[in-house]
Amino acid sequence: MPSVSADFDLAIVGSGFAGTLLAMIARRLGLSVLVVERGSHPRFAIGESSTPLANLWLETLADRYDLPRLRPLSQWGSWQATYPQIGCGLKRGFSYFHHTPGQPWRPSPSREEQLLVAASPNDAVADTHWYRPDFDAFLVEEAIREGVEYLDETTLTECRIEADGVHLVGHRKERPLEARAAFVVDASGPRGYLQRALALPEARYEGFPHTRGVFSHFTGVGSWAEAHPVFDSAPFPPDEAALHHVFEGGWMWVLRFNNGITSAGFAEWAHPTAQPTSDPAGAWAEFLNRFPLIRQQFARAQAIRPWNRTEPLAFRTARCVGPRWAQLPMAAGFVDPLFSTGFVLSLLGIDRLARTLEARCPESALAAYETETLADLDATARLIAAAYRVLGRPAAFEALTMLYFASASFAETALRLGKPALAPGFLLRAHPHVGPVMRALLAEAGRVPDAEWIARVASAIEPINVAGLCDPEKRHWYGVDVADLLRSAPRLESSPEAIQAMLRDCGL
Ligand SMILES: Cc1cc2nc3c(=O)[nH]c(=O)nc-3n(C[C@H](O)[C@H](O)[C@H](O)COP(=O)(O)OP(=O)(O)OC[C@H]3O[C@@H](n4cnc5c(N)ncnc54)[C@H](O)[C@@H]3O)c2cc1C
Repeated sequence: MPSVSADFDLAIVGSGFAGTLLAMIARRLGLSVLVVERGSHPRFAIGESSTPLANLWLETLADRYDLPRLRPLSQWGSWQATYPQIGCGLKRGFSYFHHTPGQPWRPSPSREEQLLVAASPNDAVADTHWYRPDFDAFLVEEAIREGVEYLDETTLTECRIEADGVHLVGHRKERPLEARAAFVVDASGPRGYLQRALALPEARYEGFPHTRGVFSHFTGVGSWAEAHPVFDSAPFPPDEAALHHVFEGGWMWVLRFNNGITSAGFAEWAHPTAQPTSDPAGAWAEFLNRFPLIRQQFARAQAIRPWNRTEPLAFRTARCVGPRWAQLPMAAGFVDPLFSTGFVLSLLGIDRLARTLEARCPESALAAYETETLADLDATARLIAAAYRVLGRPAAFEALTMLYFASASFAETALRLGKPALAPGFLLRAHPHVGPVMRALLAEAGRVPDAEWIARVASAIEPINVAGLCDPEKRHWYGVDVADLLRSAPRLESSPEAIQAMLRDCGL
């Protein structure tokens, strides 16, 4: 006899943060929910660095669906005060250091080999790196508290989409399992469960390079600021950030948690016909050998878990919905960790899918979900493809980042002011004026002379520049300056008083 045989309104495959968050929301909508996980928690997961937009969406979903126990996780200060046992890293912003192979990194008075962009004015309201073994295990416990039926160590062998529902067949800890649900959501990550079970076709991101990633968790990683004591007056300590080492053809992330563990890895262009890396530890050693001061930062580092390698790193499905099924954004596609877009795309997808479930999944709502999800992924791919073309050229790379920071900070402020219509689509891709201009600029990045292109970036972001970006006087260090925001009130169809009130609501 099957160990489980039940009817659910919703089955979710995968219990990463996205699957369990959607499960909790679905419970709030009154649905019965089954979550099936092939592994068990706590477990390693990659994808750790949050952003202001991601945190805003986490906060918004927690408020809208009455999940107050999740809200403290949207800022460093409230997280530390409420859940100090959940591993976390302090992320005050984004720091970038440009490297040339074989040469030591040296800070210059002009600071042109570095870029610091603050995302918050102080630690209390800062973003975080989520230590996923703790974070995801906590969310699973919360989901169970909310009445979600959770089955771990479960292998699904069959998924039949039929007129009376979705039939899931498999086994749990050697015992047969059968479950039926009205709708199934795939939250199992790229090339995940439904991609294979339904033999869904893949699609390509137009013009995106073939890239690979190699990564692990470490102890004993050195501090960049301590090794280079030139950051005393910097807008934030560069290690308390998503720290990036960038170089021609690729980049590296270094994310420190408050439990002594650091997440680090690199993503780089790889020749499409080259053999995928079979020896990630060797690839890591070869990588460190190319960059003397990164090697120094990792001189005492120990990898504390098996190496991961992903190649190709980017993935996109051709379809992400069908009758009785949908994939969350991470199952539908992934581009690259640069700019930490994964969480916010996942949270945008959860928001859209929750509304679709609320409306009982009409075909039109599912179709709209698919269009928006794939368009957001494509917009992300256009940004990151352009970034790969200009990596290794600090001025052009910095200008490229300005397109991202301008659109992300404008969108965040517009949403916080209750004006979502001002910022349609991820990275303003659907904005009637800025969207097409950004798209054209991204297509030309690295293909036209840098100086000309960089000058056009500054004028392109002018209507959405609420953060004082592209300002040569800041010499590559962008702190948070409330005056920039107040001056930008007309861009946000707002007033300085309304912006002050919004800042007070944010605890500033
Ligand atoms: C190298 C890399 C770095 C990244 N860095 C960042 C970053 O810094 N910031 C950011 O915002 N995003 C980042 N991302 C993206 C981020 O990882 C995702 O946004 C996030 O993990 C999505 O969460 P999820 O819950 O959808 O999927 P996951 O976290 O992948 O969880 C999927 C779950 O499904 C389970 N599962 C898989 N297959 C099955 C199956 N057949 N049956 C049952 N269960 C199954 C898995 O065990 C897992 O628990 C990164 C991604 C990569 C690849």
